[in-house]
Amino acid sequence: MKPSVFITRKLPEEIVAPLKEKFTVRMWDSEDVAVTHAVLREEITQVDALWTMLSDTIDRDMLESATNLKVISNLAVGYNNIDTEAANEMGIIVTNTPDVLTETTADLAFGLLLATARRFNTAEKELRQGGWLSWTPMGFTGMDVHGTTVGIIGMGRIGEAVARRAKGFNMDVLYHNRSRKPETEEEYGVAFAELDDLLQRADHVVILAPFTEETKGMIGGRELGLMKKTATLISVSRGCIVDEVALYDALKNKKIFGAGLDVFETEPVPVRHPLLTLPNVTAVPHIGSASVKTRLTMMKLNVDAITDVLEGREPANRVV
Ligand code: NAP
Repeated sequence: MKPSVFITRKLPEEIVAPLKEKFTVRMWDSEDVAVTHAVLREEITQVDALWTMLSDTIDRDMLESATNLKVISNLAVGYNNIDTEAANEMGIIVTNTPDVLTETTADLAFGLLLATARRFNTAEKELRQGGWLSWTPMGFTGMDVHGTTVGIIGMGRIGEAVARRAKGFNMDVLYHNRSRKPETEEEYGVAFAELDDLLQRADHVVILAPFTEETKGMIGGRELGLMKKTATLISVSRGCIVDEVALYDALKNKKIFGAGLDVFETEPVPVRHPLLTLPNVTAVPHIGSASVKTRLTMMKLNVDAITDVLEGREPANRVV
């Protein structure tokens, strides 16, 4: 019997075709709506390979029922949606899609920074609603980006790509990681800072650390209170790193200038979410890696990883 694969979202046929040639492939039939918990629970008990999206939670309980499962390949670089510790204990390989999305995600992060600092959303909304009555000297004024200081929390692959962009805008770059990166400091002319120091000095703070037990709620009321009143916070890695109640308070009470959000504590973010009522929030729906080329390239990495594991080879981009 051929090994079987379940794909938790409808993906382009041409991408899935190589898997279909070799394996029995079943695929959730919607592009827009996530697989139901019941279907995922049922499939995971049967299949040899699971191709997941970042919106699928694969916990220990689910993994315990996965008697045939050999590999989970996640369409993302972040894998906080999968209990990798449990998978490792059970000998289930987990793979992700790093590197190929780095530049595209950095483009989005930097774009969100520009949009937030220069208030693109308010300006466009006013224009479309007929609110552009005349050119006004201080109308729609925001914060400069060029020549300012950006603080990057999580100077990894994407953090470095944002730093490269910042250098093109003549910005000073501070970064905070758990470990210093002397070669990166030398190559890009960036400076390490402790978290509090970075928050106090940066004009724009960009969050690019992974979501872990350690980073959960890392930016709360105290941290936001350290930031400049004129500063922006750009959140691109995972929403749970920022305490959204504290962020709402900071934005509403103008303790910081604005926030650019690609990620949220709960996704999809409810349309009535308090943060979405604030004019100084620029929000997009988790589109960091969303260019056609990058998403298709990420999918090809998943196909390769699943094929490698099911044919007995070591896959690239193995997380555990
Ligand atoms: P990466 O290369 O692994 O970089 C992550 C960086 O975060 C590392 O330099 C790491 O350095 C640092 N870090 C880890 N824990 C930390 C902590 N507790 N405090 C401070 N820094 C910490 O990952 P990447 O490829 O750049 O991706 C980063 C994250 O972006 C992913 O995990 C994913 O969640 C997110 N992402 C989002 C999108 C989107 O669509 N919005 C797209 C792609 C990726 P140390 O280990 O030295 O601390």
